[in-house]
Amino acid sequence: MDFAQEVKAAADIVSVVGANVRLKRQSGDRYVGLCPFHTEKTPSFSVHGRLQIYKCFGCGKSGDVFNFLMELQGLSFIEALKLLAEQQGKELPRKGGSPAADAAARKREGLLQVHDLAQRFFVEQLKSNVGSKAMRYLSQRGLGSEEIGEFGLGYAPGGDALMSYLRSKRLKRSHVLESGLVGQSDQDDSVYPRFRDRLMFPIHSDGGSLIGYGGRSRLADRQPKYLNSPETPIYHKNAVLYNIHRARTAMRQSNQVVLVEGYMDVIGVWRAGIRNAVAACGTALTSKQISLLRRHCDTVVVNFDSDSAGQTAAERSVEMLLRDGMNVRVLELPGGLDPDEYCREHGGESYRQQLENAPAYFHWLLDRSHTLFDLSTSDGRTKAFERLLGSVVLLPDEVQQATTVTDLAQHIGLPQSLALARLRSAAKPSKRTDETPVAQADGLSPSERLLVVLLVSDERARQQFLEPACEIAARGLPSSPILSALKAVASAGGPFRYEAVEGRLDSADRDRLARLVFERDRPMPTVADGEDLLAALNRQAMEEQYQDLLRRIGRADSADELPGLLDQKLQLERELGLAR
Ligand SMILES: [Zn+2]
Repeated sequence: MDFAQEVKAAADIVSVVGANVRLKRQSGDRYVGLCPFHTEKTPSFSVHGRLQIYKCFGCGKSGDVFNFLMELQGLSFIEALKLLAEQQGKELPRKGGSPAADAAARKREGLLQVHDLAQRFFVEQLKSNVGSKAMRYLSQRGLGSEEIGEFGLGYAPGGDALMSYLRSKRLKRSHVLESGLVGQSDQDDSVYPRFRDRLMFPIHSDGGSLIGYGGRSRLADRQPKYLNSPETPIYHKNAVLYNIHRARTAMRQSNQVVLVEGYMDVIGVWRAGIRNAVAACGTALTSKQISLLRRHCDTVVVNFDSDSAGQTAAERSVEMLLRDGMNVRVLELPGGLDPDEYCREHGGESYRQQLENAPAYFHWLLDRSHTLFDLSTSDGRTKAFERLLGSVVLLPDEVQQATTVTDLAQHIGLPQSLALARLRSAAKPSKRTDETPVAQADGLSPSERLLVVLLVSDERARQQFLEPACEIAARGLPSSPILSALKAVASAGGPFRYEAVEGRLDSADRDRLARLVFERDRPMPTVADGEDLLAALNRQAMEEQYQDLLRRIGRADSADELPGLLDQKLQLERELGLAR
C-alpha cells in the first residue's frame, strides 16, 4: 500500500465528514446530511461508511476522504494528505507530489508562513514599549492577559518595523507581497505595511489556520475604525467568520451560534463564558458564511448593536438566515448595550439568560413595527402585518408559515382568517420539487440492482458470484458495464477500491452506481442471497434474449434464417418454462 492509501485506510470518512457536516445515520453504513457544497434544505449529501465515499445527489459532488477535504478547504491533494496524516501522527514522506501541481499549495504554505511570522511580531510589539498605549486601551476595555493570549491579539506599530522584521526572515518576496500585510507603492517598487498603529485581531479559517487580520484603530476619530486584510489566495472575507474555529465545538454541542457584530463582542462574551459566538469580519452576512454556520448548528441568535446601523444589519442578516432555512432568534439587549458592554456590566450568567429568552425573529420584527406603525389603528395594524408577511414567506415550510402567521395575527390583533388569506396570496407557488434525493436507478431490474450492491460491498460475494454474473450480464443486460468494471478491479488484486471502479465507468454508469449504493429503503443483500440473485439475473438475460429473438423472427426476410431462429426460440421457451 502506498502512503496515501495507508492514510486513507486509517481515516474514517464518516468522522472526517462528520466533523464538518451534521450527519444522520440513514441505515447500516449510510449517512445523510446537508451538503456543504451547495445550499439545500433537505439533505441529499450521502456518505457511505463501508465504501468510504460521499456523493451529493443535489450538486453531484462526490469522492473519497481526500476529495472531501480538498473541496471543502480548497486544498491540493498533497495538502489534504498531509492534513489527514498529521491527524494520524504520521509524517509525509519527503518525495511525493509533482512540483507543478503543487505550486498553488506552496504559495498557500508561503502565505501561511508569512502570517505566522507576522503574528509573532505583532504579539511581541504589543508586549513591548511600542505597544504600551495599545495595551492600555485593551485593559480599559477590560481585557486581561488571558483573553489577549487566547485570541492572539497583537499590535502593528507605525513605521517600517514589520518590513525589516520580515526581511530578516528571508521570506519569498512574492509571498510577502501577496499576504495582504504589505502594500506596494505605485510610483516605485517600495513596500509599506498595510496596518499601522493598529490593534491586530488574527482571523482564522474554519480549520484553524491564521489567514488574515482585522486591524482596529485605538483612536476614536481614526477612519476606518477597522481595516481588514484584502482578498488574498488564503483570505476570502465573505467566506470567513471570526472565531469559528474556536466556537465550532460549542456550536455543535448547543446546536446554536450567537452571531455578534464585532471582534470585541466575540471576545467580550468569551470572557463571560459564552463559547459559541462568531462575527462576520466587516461584511454583511453572506450565504457562504451561513453555510459555514449550518455545518455546525441549526439555530442562530442574532445579537447586534442597538443603534440603527446595527438593527438594519440585523434585519438583513435575519432575512438571509431565514432564506437559508436556519432557525432565527434575535436578542436586543436592554439599555442599548452591545454584547461586550452587557457582559461587563451584568456578567455572563445574565447574558446567558438573555440568550435563552431571546424571542423568535418575528416577535422581534413585531416589536420593531411598534415604532414604525401605529398599531392602535386598523390601518397601522394591516401595514405592520404586511411588512412582517415578507419575512414569513421566507420560512422553508408551509406549516411553519401558517402557524407563524396566525401567531402574528393574534399579537397584532388581526382576524386569523384574514391573515391566512393574505399569506396564501403572498406565498409564491413553491418552486421546490421536493424530489427524493436518491431516485430509482434507471434501467436495472430489482434483482440486478441488489446483485450489484452485493458485489460492490462484499468480498466473499465477489469471489463467488462476480465471474458468472459478468458472463450473464454480457448477454445484453444494462448492468454489464458496471459488472465488468467491478471484475477488472477485483481481479487486479489488492484492497478493493470503489473509486477504481468509478474510474472505469462513464459518467452515466458512475451516477447509476452511486444511486444504487446510496439507495434508500432497500434491503441489504447478503452472500446467502447470491444464488437466488444470480438465478434471477440469468432468467432476466434469457427473457431479454427471447424478446430479441422475437424481434429477429419478425424481421427475418430470408426463409433460410427462420428454421434456426425458431429452434432457438423453442429452446429458450423450454428453459423459461414457456413451452407446453
Ligand atoms: Zn451538494
